[in-house]
Formats: sequence, C-alpha cells, structure tokens
Amino acid sequence: MDHFDYVDGTMRVEQVPMAEIADAVGTPVYVYSTATLERHVGVFREGLAALDNPLIAFAVKANPNAAVLATLAKLGLGADVVSGGELLRAVAAGIPADRIVFSGVGKTADEMRLALEHGIFQFNLESEPEAEMLSKVALSMGMRAPVAYRINPDVDAGTHAKISTGKSENKFGIPYDRAIESYAAAGDLPGLDVQGVAVHIGSQLTDLAPLEAAFTKVGALITALREAGHDIRTADLGGGLGVPYDPSQPLPPSPADYGAMVCRVTQGWPVRLMFEPGRVIVGNAGALLSRVVRVKQGAKAPFVIVDAAMNDLLRPSLYDAWHDIRAVAPSGKQAAANVVGPVCETGDTFAMGRDMDVVEAGDLVAFMTAGAYGATMAGTYNSRPLTPEVLVSGDRWAVVRARPPIEALIEGDSIPDWLAD
Ligand SMILES: *Cc1c(COP(=O)(O)O)cnc(C)c1O
Repeated sequence: MDHFDYVDGTMRVEQVPMAEIADAVGTPVYVYSTATLERHVGVFREGLAALDNPLIAFAVKANPNAAVLATLAKLGLGADVVSGGELLRAVAAGIPADRIVFSGVGKTADEMRLALEHGIFQFNLESEPEAEMLSKVALSMGMRAPVAYRINPDVDAGTHAKISTGKSENKFGIPYDRAIESYAAAGDLPGLDVQGVAVHIGSQLTDLAPLEAAFTKVGALITALREAGHDIRTADLGGGLGVPYDPSQPLPPSPADYGAMVCRVTQGWPVRLMFEPGRVIVGNAGALLSRVVRVKQGAKAPFVIVDAAMNDLLRPSLYDAWHDIRAVAPSGKQAAANVVGPVCETGDTFAMGRDMDVVEAGDLVAFMTAGAYGATMAGTYNSRPLTPEVLVSGDRWAVVRARPPIEALIEGDSIPDWLAD
C-alpha cells in the first residue's frame, strides 16, 4: 500500500499534486511519501510483534537519503550499513550506533576502525581473513569487536540471479559446512567477541520457503555453536522480503506472513533477533517522476522517450526489473508503448510493448515503486546531473537533495598543467 492516489484525475502523493513538484523542481525527480514509510515500518513491526525486542536495522543501501534515514530514525529503526560512508550517513541522520550493523564482504581496516570508534552493535563477518583483520584492528584500539558470522546456507532464493546471495557459489558469507571450524577460529581471536549468527539470502523474495530453509539452518547452527561453548546471543535474519511491482503478478508474502513464519521457526531460540529490511520499507514509498520528451514511431509500438534514463533508475537495465509506469493525468486511453530514456544505450529501456496510459510530449509519467534501489544507484552517465529527491509529508514537501548544476560535474574534473596553457 502506498499514498500515491488519483484525485480529480491527477496523481497526488499524500496531499501534494505530483505536477506541482514537477513544475517547481523539474524532472526527473524522485518523490517519497512519509506516510508510506511510516506505514511500512508499522506493518513490518506488527508482523514481528510477538518477538521480544527485535532489532530492525534498515538496509541503508536501499535508500540512503538523509531525510529518509531521519524519518526511519524517528520511528526507532537501526541501520544495516555496508560501507564507512553508509555508517557516517546513518549516524548523521540520527541513528544510534548501538542499532547499527556492518555487513559486506570487503570491509577495510579503516572502515573497521571507524565503526569501532562509533561503537556499533555488530559486525557481520564474511570470511576468516576478515575476522583476523578485525581482531587486529580492535586490539590495536584496546577493544573487542562484537561479531557474527554471516553464513552462506546454500539455499536458492528463487529471485533474479543478480540479487541472489545465499547460494554456495555466491561471494557472500562463510560456507555453512565449515561454520563450526570458522567459529572456533574466531573464538580464539582475542579482539573478537563472538555474539551471533547472520544470514541474508537475497532480495525481492516472493516465496517464504527459501527464507524458512535458511532460518532453519541458522537455528541448528545456533544450537551446535552453543554446545561448542560459544555464547551466541543474536541471530540476524537479514532482509529480502519482496514488494509488489507488477499488479498483474501474485502478491508477495506480507510482513505478517513473514513474521508468522519467523516466530514459528525461531521459537525457543535463546537469542535477540535482528532484521535488515530494505526494499519492503522504502520500495513503495517512492516514485520517479519524469516528463515525456517526445513520442516517436516504432516498428511495432511507439517509443515514448522520457527525460528519466538508466542513470536515474538503473534497475530495469541492471536486472530486468519491472516498474509500473503511469500517467500523472491519465487520458483514459491505453495502448502498447516502449518507454525509453535519452541515454545512448539500448539498455536504457524501461519497458517494451507495455500496455499503459497513452501519453504525449509534455505529459508527466510516474515510475512506481522506485523508493528502493532507485536514487541510490543513480549516476551521471551521459553527463546527466544526479537525480534530485523530494520528501512529502501530508500537505508539505521539501527538496531533500537538490539537482546539482551541470557546472558541478564540469568543475569536478581538473585538467593537468601539461594540458592547460
Ligand atoms: C541488501 C541487503 C539487505 C536488504 O535487502 P532487501 O531486499 O532490500 O530487504 C539486507 N542485508 C544485507 C546484508 C544486504 O546486503
């Protein structure tokens, strides 16, 4: 559920007409709804209501905008970060360090030091050499680092290959079958306090079965590790719950279904549970607003050329993602169209042969469900400035990231003295 609705034939986000934002800020622009963020946090939390004090750490990579993070911080969420930059952004937005988890296969010594200085809740380690490095860094600071190992349960998440992370051939986590040995080695490292087990098998999961299979393996491992003498107190079940992109597809499991499964599988586990939801919190809370530049004839269907491109919303070209594309002021007519951006790549295609609202040059369109992995993946390819972002709350709205002037791109480079004369 979101708060993008049609009122008097034109799309509003909460009480603000999308056209008002487009006219004031220009297009393309990402638009986020506070009410939708609040609703999704509420629904996710309700799904886990039977658990004792779970830590819900928002996966910052899904949407690191400061205003979004500040909204989630106010709602009491923690953060799952995958870089020093994300850590600093989360802290700057008001997320307390004792609700921050640090994931990722390539943490550097500098990033480890930074996270230790801030006193984060947990490092999710992904290899034995990483454990050795973190132990050294922590000791050099006179500290012990709180850690979990992210295990790779070798479970097929059943999602797109590029967002599957829990198969044995993926780069993530330590092999499940070697976990006991890896934990034994970590337990001997003086700079580590081994406190948990973590898992995250992929994103946009539309079936609970692979999650349940992975969590079941985590449960068995917790028992084995405690028997081996490790004081396991946390279990981080990751993120990955899918959201509805295509209204013609079956709905993914709801946070309530997910929560019920989690409660059933984890019953009796002697640990504090942690979660790292990203997409399910912010996905439906955002739309990318764009204007039609022109419509040109195509062999089968017309090409609707919009002013948003793959540099603004990478998901369709990166992993064939499907976004609903709606006219902001629908004419009532529908027809098949190809929706493309202006970037000089065939991959800069949002939809082919899509049955959608008929639009013409100058019309506004909204790419729905663009709040997750949207603006955060934007780049400047084709020398297009980074996409601005707007946050709406009720009848108020604010630019929460301004569109940089093209001069900023030009001035960002420098010409070496041997070329300048
Ligand atoms: C990306 C990621 C998440 C969030 O995944 P969603 O599908 O957005 O919920 C959680 N944990 C880790 C370790 C991740 O890499």
